[in-house]
Amino acid sequence: MKILLIAPESKRAAKKKAIFVPFPQASLTILAGLTPKEHTVTIVDERLHEIDYNGNYDLIGITVMTATSAHAYQIADEFRRRNKKVVLGGIHPSALPDEAIQHADCVVIGEAENLWKIVLEDFQKGQMQKFYKNEELPSLTDLPLARLDLLGKGYLLKNVFQTTRGCPHNCGFCSVSAFNGRRYRHRPVEKVIEEVSQYRSKMIGFLDDNIVGNPKYSKELFRALIPLKKKWVSQGTVKMAEDEELISLAQKCGCICLFVGFESVNELNLKEMHKQFNHIEKYRKLIENFHRHHIMVVGSFVFGFDNDDLSVFDETLKFIEDTKIDFATFNILTPLPGTEVFEKFKATNRIFSYDWTNYDFSHVVYQPSKMTPEELQFGHNELYRKFYTLPKIMKRALWNWRYLGYFLPASLYYNWVSRNPHQLPNLHD
Ligand code: SF4
Repeated sequence: MKILLIAPESKRAAKKKAIFVPFPQASLTILAGLTPKEHTVTIVDERLHEIDYNGNYDLIGITVMTATSAHAYQIADEFRRRNKKVVLGGIHPSALPDEAIQHADCVVIGEAENLWKIVLEDFQKGQMQKFYKNEELPSLTDLPLARLDLLGKGYLLKNVFQTTRGCPHNCGFCSVSAFNGRRYRHRPVEKVIEEVSQYRSKMIGFLDDNIVGNPKYSKELFRALIPLKKKWVSQGTVKMAEDEELISLAQKCGCICLFVGFESVNELNLKEMHKQFNHIEKYRKLIENFHRHHIMVVGSFVFGFDNDDLSVFDETLKFIEDTKIDFATFNILTPLPGTEVFEKFKATNRIFSYDWTNYDFSHVVYQPSKMTPEELQFGHNELYRKFYTLPKIMKRALWNWRYLGYFLPASLYYNWVSRNPHQLPNLHD
């Protein structure tokens, strides 16, 4: 059987193909790894490559995020017009399966690992169901090696792995706990080491939502990584910098950059979003600690919380520049289906657009509390332009001379994003 797995682009950005994107999506390479050997799998990342609608495929699988859903449905419709069977999965179909099934023969609800082989067997028997639902989250113990070999060219960082899933926290705007659960699951350290060891490239990435969610596991993993002499990037929380043993081990095993969700410089916003474990008064010291360990910080900030007024943009920029955060991503609060924020805004009629294409963290789809949608949009776009000017990038490059080979391409990517904010990857979806 020939299977085509697609990571679709969002409808808007699809007008123009990117020359490169930061990294691939982990889900499709893992599904490909789970596919029995007798089948042939092709992966198309539509951000980089065209889809061949007339290709000789038996089954089409599409992973769908909210921002890509409108276009994913078009792709699915196009294949179904050609009498191909389509399976949709991912965060958005899991949150809204009844919507997704309008465009598919089958919707997989929740993480697909436990279900994928069953879907394939049922399809071969001509008995594929409309819905497959995970009753329990899959263990990561037997996760196969991801088929990175099936990816095309065009990634800033292609060799990416997953060590953990789930998050014990439940931040109101985040879909991770709804989709991946609040129980923290992790792969056996020896499996991660076996997988990482197969790749010769020095630079790798861990696509975890929070690589330090369980410090005991993280320390074990970091110790085992040291002999491999890799350099790596991942996502985590400021908690890494609170634990001296953890951050020292991270440095020793090659962590050079961590994506950290600071979200807001306003304590009230953090409280409302249940992210009180971020203590603003500690940020400065913790960022200094990252830098002391030569770990660059990508600070992620969200705008449009109910306590944000127009002053939030300048205050955040000042904070970022004072603390010397190395990169920043600026996101507009987005009420993703399945999250608490979605339910709250929907119940109070604050959502004015259900065009999912705009649910990309770069567009306003709801009525903010203390500014107009236009002011929120403008303030967000301006921050990118103000932070990623070429003179400021060069200034930051001086203190990041150690990692210039990584720092400059990534900064120039964000400089490009500052002129095309709709091209941002969906880091939170
Ligand atoms: S924002 Fe981060 S800490 Fe909060 S629920 Fe999502 S993954 Fe967990």
